[in-house]
Formats: sequence, structure tokens, C-alpha cells
Amino acid sequence: MEINGKTILHGIMGDPVGHSLSPTMHNAAFAELGLNSVYVPFPVQDVAGALIGFKALHVRGVSVTIPHKQAVIPLLDEIDPLALKIGAVNTLLIDDKSRIKGFNTDWLGANRALGEYLDLTGKEILLLGAGGAARAIGFGLLEAGAKVILSSRTKKPGEKLAAGLNCDWHPLADIGALTADGLVNATSVGMAPDTDFSLVAEKKLADFPVVMDIVYSPLETRLLRQAKDAGCQTINGLAMLLYQGVAQFELWTERGAPLPVMKQKLMAELTNPQK
Ligand code: NAP
Repeated sequence: MEINGKTILHGIMGDPVGHSLSPTMHNAAFAELGLNSVYVPFPVQDVAGALIGFKALHVRGVSVTIPHKQAVIPLLDEIDPLALKIGAVNTLLIDDKSRIKGFNTDWLGANRALGEYLDLTGKEILLLGAGGAARAIGFGLLEAGAKVILSSRTKKPGEKLAAGLNCDWHPLADIGALTADGLVNATSVGMAPDTDFSLVAEKKLADFPVVMDIVYSPLETRLLRQAKDAGCQTINGLAMLLYQGVAQFELWTERGAPLPVMKQKLMAELTNPQK
């Protein structure tokens, strides 16, 4: 693409950001639609300074990643109500008046990924984990009218999230006694390099018709491999990653995102042994 005087700036702020898959995905989408926009990494330590900079430089859209998803919140001009409930913002939209509004698209990504296999309304979902991703997914599931059953390793954060979600919390040892319409692993268990782990016993998996793992490295985790063998429908971590990016793109551009090219770019990155 040609960068010129009218090019609209987007980017990702985090620390570090060098490993992010978002620049490839969003730049491919801009190119596909012929938009005069670019998306670059912003390695940021000074969050308040960065937000002042985004306003001054008329940046249009920013993805926010670790460790700044909470720190941006008090600095925003406006926040989406569900992002406030979740307590994390992964997307900034800077409008023509230089007002910054914060959103969370992680839950949108998870709901869309699950929604391809399951009408979430009234369904029970066993959610594993009580970290940042589990929080976003949990509140998103409630938004979709699903009922959450929460299970995680450490009691205190688990019970805190369960109280927020108005649901029961179970230690991981209880999983064998739980059933649900769907199972979501929102922990980092199974992620490279420790790929030989799963929180759910193989013989238990047939009790969950749909199994989603949000870990995307590797794309096929041990959990998903065993779930497939048990006859479950499986959803890998690429789906949530893709759809949260699609929601960001659509917020920034007010255009429908070119899904196939975004998916293809992410897939290429995730299956490239150099990554
Ligand atoms: P986080 O805030 O650090 O939370 C990690 C969670 O994993 C905590 O609940 C932690 O439990 C649990 N956990 C870690 N090791 C465990 C173990 N050995 N046994 C049981 N539980 C364990 O991280 P996060 O941001 O939520 O991310 C979690 C995973 O999701 C990461 O792999 C990340 O790459 C992935 N992710 C994917 C997407 C996507 O779009 N696909 C989006 C966000 C995140 P404790 O509280 O007991 O430590």
C-alpha cells in the first residue's frame, strides 16, 4: 500500500508487542478493502502519555494488550458498559473530537466462535479459568443468555469471578461430576511448550457436546485432540482471536470485515514454524 497524507493510523499498544499477530491480520484487511489505513505496533510503557499521543496524532483505532488492559480504563473519555463490567479494555476508538472510547471485543470473539456451534441462549457452559480471558468470556456468556459454571485452580480469584457472574465455583477436582452443553478452556493449560496437558480427563469429554479451547499455540491442543476423538464438536483458539479482531476492525472502519483474508493471515502465522 502507499502511505500518504491521508493515511489513517491504527495500532496495538502493549509491552511487549513484537510477537502480536494483529498487525498482519488488520493490515491484510485494510488492503483487501482498499482502505488507506495502516496498523503498527506501539511498544508502550507510559499508558497516559500514549493516550495523549493517540489524540494528538489523530490515531483512529488501537488494540490494547497485556499489561495495559486495566490501566487504560481511568484514562478513557467513555467506556462500553460491558467492558466496564469485565474490567478490561482491549480496543480503543478515537472519534473526530479526539474522545477515546474503550471496548472489550474478546467476549464478542468468544461468543461468535461458540455461536457457530451452539445457540447460547439458555445453555450451560462449563468455563475453566478465572484469569483475564475467563472474565471476558464469562460476562459475554451471560450477555448471550447462557448460564456459566465456573471451575478454576485457585479458590480466591475463582470465587471472586463466580460472585461477579452470579454462578457456582468448583475446584478443578469437581470437573468429573459436572456436565454442560459446552466446555471452554480459558486457562493457559495446553499452551506450548507444555502441550502434553489438559484439565479434563479423556473419558469425561463425551459429556460436553461442544468443546472450545482458547489456547492458539498449538492450534490443536491435547484437550481438542481428545475431544475430537470423543466425538465432540471442537473450536480452536484461532476462532476467538479472529472474531475479536473482526469486531475491532468493524468498530474502527464501520465496514464489514473481510473475514477470509483475516483468517488466512492468522492461520499462516500460527502454522508458521518460525513463530
Ligand atoms: P491469565 O489472566 O494469566 O489467567 C490464566 C488462567 O489460567 C488462570 O485462571 C490460572 O489459574 C489458569 N492456569 C494457569 N496454569 C494453570 C494450571 N497449571 N492449572 C490450572 N489452571 C491454570 O491469562 P489469560 O489472559 O486469561 O489467558 C489465558 C490463555 O488464553 C492464554 O493461553 C492466552 O494465550 C489465551 N488467550 C487466547 C485468546 C484468543 O483470542 N484465543 C484471548 C486471550 C487469551 P490460577 O489463577 O490458579 O493461576
